[in-house]
Amino acid sequence: MAVPLLDIARQNKPLENEFKAAFDRVFSSNAFILGPEVAAFEREIAETTGIPHAIGLSSGTDALLIAMMAMDIGPGDEVLCPAFTFFGTAGSIARVGATPVWVDVLEDTYNIDFDDAARKTGPDTKAIIPVHLFGQPCDIDRLNAFASQYDLRIIEDVAQALGATFDDQPAGGFGDCGAVSFYPTKNIGGFGDAGLLLTRNDELAEKVLTLRNHGMEPKYYHSLIGGNFRLDALQAALLRVKLQYLNSYTEKRAANAQFYTENLKGHGLIVTPATLDSAHHVWNQYTIRVIDGKRAALREHLAARQIGSEIYYPLSLHEQVCFRKTVKGADSIRVSSQLANQVLSIPVFPEMTEAERDEVLQALWDFGYN
Ligand SMILES: *Cc1c(COP(=O)(O)O)cnc(C)c1O
Repeated sequence: MAVPLLDIARQNKPLENEFKAAFDRVFSSNAFILGPEVAAFEREIAETTGIPHAIGLSSGTDALLIAMMAMDIGPGDEVLCPAFTFFGTAGSIARVGATPVWVDVLEDTYNIDFDDAARKTGPDTKAIIPVHLFGQPCDIDRLNAFASQYDLRIIEDVAQALGATFDDQPAGGFGDCGAVSFYPTKNIGGFGDAGLLLTRNDELAEKVLTLRNHGMEPKYYHSLIGGNFRLDALQAALLRVKLQYLNSYTEKRAANAQFYTENLKGHGLIVTPATLDSAHHVWNQYTIRVIDGKRAALREHLAARQIGSEIYYPLSLHEQVCFRKTVKGADSIRVSSQLANQVLSIPVFPEMTEAERDEVLQALWDFGYN
């Protein structure tokens, strides 16, 4: 039985009529830039998360970028960045002219290692970007203590963790702001690129609202050098449909994750992802560590049975060609490089059937992980 890593059609098809109605609304309104659909989506996200400001943007990457623009982070500033994350986290730092300082991650949760971050914090360090990787918030108690000790701004990368909480508080609302992505593989996937910035800070929100529209306020008067970082009205209308199902999607992801974790215990050759007691994990990915050096063979075995898998991520960021001259913190990165050689994400998408779940587990058992 073929089991894809993700099946977007299975999620979208049952909502076809709702999507068409949303499209028709935008079509008839002729309001394609910002407007009522974007405002409504922003309001609904604010209500869902409990974070007062939700600002629709062009992508998750742009949300990270505009956050740093709004904080005037630039040349001469250092920003602490996990080495094991998607490129966009680090790329945004470099694009505002600041320096990413590589911080290692923890091998059990894959999230940032605050002990390593502390060693790498200096007088030029302005901010930290904790990534809630694969859907699990980092240790927020450590994050808050760390950021206040060193007086740092916090930009949460919530791209994979919309709906996650820590001690029942929403991810994206712990720091100065949180960057959300609606890339199609994320927990709410759009029909193209889209993103959003969450914040409790009124001043920051106001600045981001101006920056996303060329720094323009009022019309054709520019106090800031912004850009076009706007969320499309059509995208917002379609995402509003999916937002209604976020909790049910998350519950199904969590049930699939729990199934794997319970059934893959105790074999010793692969390690299941650790979860923190205070964290509500939303399982954008279910990522195991293959610690017997057989990841490539395992992937082939799964592919032969038509089971999808992916390596998020195959190369630690400090080893990427484009960061060859970005070396701050790089010499002590160990775990990130090791994870790049061990991790494998397996199907956890909400629409998976129990038979499909069993098939993935059986394939892992048949490979010797039983
Ligand atoms: C997807 C992702 C981003 C970027 O989001 P886009 O909307 O694709 O620009 C940033 N950080 C992480 C951790 C991501 O997974």
